[in-house]
Amino acid sequence: FARRARIAEKLAAIGELSGGLAHEIRSPLNGASLQLQLLERRISRVSSDPALLGPIEMVQSELNRLSHLVEDFLSFARPVELDLHRFDLPTLLAQVAELLAPEAATHGIELRAELPGAGLVYEGDRHKLQQVLINVVRNAIEALEHTGGDIVVSLVGPEDGMLALRVTDDGPGIPEDIRSRVFEPFFSTKAMGTGLGMAICHALVQRHGGAIHIRCDGGTEVDILLPAPVAGDAAPDRA
Ligand code: ADP
Ligand code: MG
Repeated sequence: FARRARIAEKLAAIGELSGGLAHEIRSPLNGASLQLQLLERRISRVSSDPALLGPIEMVQSELNRLSHLVEDFLSFARPVELDLHRFDLPTLLAQVAELLAPEAATHGIELRAELPGAGLVYEGDRHKLQQVLINVVRNAIEALEHTGGDIVVSLVGPEDGMLALRVTDDGPGIPEDIRSRVFEPFFSTKAMGTGLGMAICHALVQRHGGAIHIRCDGGTEVDILLPAPVAGDAAPDRA
């Protein structure tokens, strides 16, 4: 027990240290990115030489990637604090589909929401559940980006006290031998992946008393399971 407590203490210290480091990296990174944008604007006023603008764009995209990594890492290192509100779940699903449909369309992917007509009031952290959905749908987009295909966002249940936010894609699926690893932090099969998306989703959903189930049968079906709201609950909070 003493040994385990010591390990937990060390891990917490490492988490704090790296969280602090990520935070410190954020502001110079944003500063550099801003200066580079200004430089790009100045250069493009006097020249359209790709030998000048090409490298700038390259650095810009690398800075973007680094910034995503830092943001992902920060939401991973931070303890999850929920900010609870009542909100309409089908509306959230529809909004996420609407938000990402244009990005999906550029890869020949049709992203749509199939939702019940009636509303469903849920009490949870709307912003964090939106982050979970965006991460899961982004993975579906990335699985289809070279082939095109379909992504459907839907709502299942409530049934037996649970409901599921379901995201299905008709992509290649996740090979059996790595399916148990997708929630591991930094596990990624992508050249540009951070491997933090599903780890963050897992933590956020768990904090809501839920779980994430993945089923692959041809494509991939991700169920974000949440405890169902108690029937007869009041109206959503004002947005
Ligand atoms: P990242 O997207 O940065 O790689 P994630 O944690 O979001 O990290 O996902 C981990 C891995 O899970 C991905 O690299 C990919 O191999 C696999 N994965 C997740 N969702 C899907 C999907 N819809 N289709 C195929 N593979 C997936
Ligand atoms: Mg991802």
